[in-house]
Amino acid sequence: MSVLVMKFGGTSVATLDRIRRAAKRVGREIANGHDVIVIVSAMSGKTNELVGWVGETSPLYDAREYDAVVSSGENVTAGLMALTLQEMDIPARSWQGWQVPLKTNGAHGAARIEEIPPDNITARFADGMRVAVVAGFQGISPEGRITTLGRGGSDTTAVAFAAAFDAVRCDIYTDVDGVYTTDPRITSKARKLDKIAFEEMLELASLGAKVLQTRSVELAMRYKVKLRVLSSFDEYDENAGTLVCEEDEIMENNVVAGVAYSRDEAKMTLTRVADRPGIAAAIFGPLAEGGVNVDMIVQNISDAGQTDMTFSCPVDQVPRAEAAMRAARDAGEIDFQDLLADTEVSKVSVVGIGMRSHTGVAAKMFKALRDDNVNIKVITTSEIKISVLIDRKYMELAVQALHDTFELEKAR
Ligand code: ASP
Ligand code: MG
Repeated sequence: MSVLVMKFGGTSVATLDRIRRAAKRVGREIANGHDVIVIVSAMSGKTNELVGWVGETSPLYDAREYDAVVSSGENVTAGLMALTLQEMDIPARSWQGWQVPLKTNGAHGAARIEEIPPDNITARFADGMRVAVVAGFQGISPEGRITTLGRGGSDTTAVAFAAAFDAVRCDIYTDVDGVYTTDPRITSKARKLDKIAFEEMLELASLGAKVLQTRSVELAMRYKVKLRVLSSFDEYDENAGTLVCEEDEIMENNVVAGVAYSRDEAKMTLTRVADRPGIAAAIFGPLAEGGVNVDMIVQNISDAGQTDMTFSCPVDQVPRAEAAMRAARDAGEIDFQDLLADTEVSKVSVVGIGMRSHTGVAAKMFKALRDDNVNIKVITTSEIKISVLIDRKYMELAVQALHDTFELEKAR
């Protein structure tokens, strides 16, 4: 029997009515001959509420109890989904993470999955059960405590189950109908992609496209899980949504697949730091320890043994970055003249596996920005991505210009 994994996000199970709607989709896949593992999120808004309750009760909470509380939203939807399926005469039961068991490490609040032994669920499928409804986002630690996988973690649960059960596909049902060339709120020319390569999706997800948790894409890429993102509200059709797949499954490749952005960035510059071996370690070590997520890094040309060091980070981490740098200076680990913070910048990136084999993408990108008089403050590149930091007030304009330049409105 082939196993299909279907994951329903919070908006897709937000009411009893929507759970019924989702259950009907499960019924259709049963009729197609699949055994189905359904992964559910909590009803939309529920996890936020639970997180809020924990913080109100105990500001410096015990992370094990945080997990006990915030994992509970998924237990409710798993039970309700199983009941709904039973009402439709489909043999189904719910499983909490620990019952499967979905084994994780002990990093409460951000646990990593270690193993999902398939035996228990497989045995029930052999007994005639057709649907295993599993609470997403949760597992069990080596100490036997409930863990959660980090916000958005039920995507990762779904992909991990698809890998463990060698599923034919992992369908992620959500409130958008797929992955877009860019945010449709920024340009109406944004277009749904029929297919996108794992690596592109990984870049887009980590650059701020929120449709899939980054870790779930990483996992899908590693285990070659065919992932499909689709809306639970649209009428069903075989080719709905976006397939996230290996690059050789995509015939016609645009050089650029999408334009991503991250609105609230900051550009920090340390002026006149000593240009000596170990200086980068002396700066970025304390930043990492201070919990600052450094993204772009530029070291400028050295002048008389001194240099400027520029980096970017999320704007809400600027106070932390400043504190870490002052503390390092007070401790005599680094010296600098000024610490400049530009808190009005955004990052805009173009992503595409075609960049590996096509030259001139950067030049084309920079020309498009120049034509709109957008000044570039920092540039970084990887094999399949070019990112620039620009003034935040030009962010929308830049995204639109790049979407036009790379003709992303045309079908791939
Ligand atoms: N309910 C969890 C959250 O809101 C997990 C998920 O839905 O993916 O983060
Ligand atoms: Mg989600």
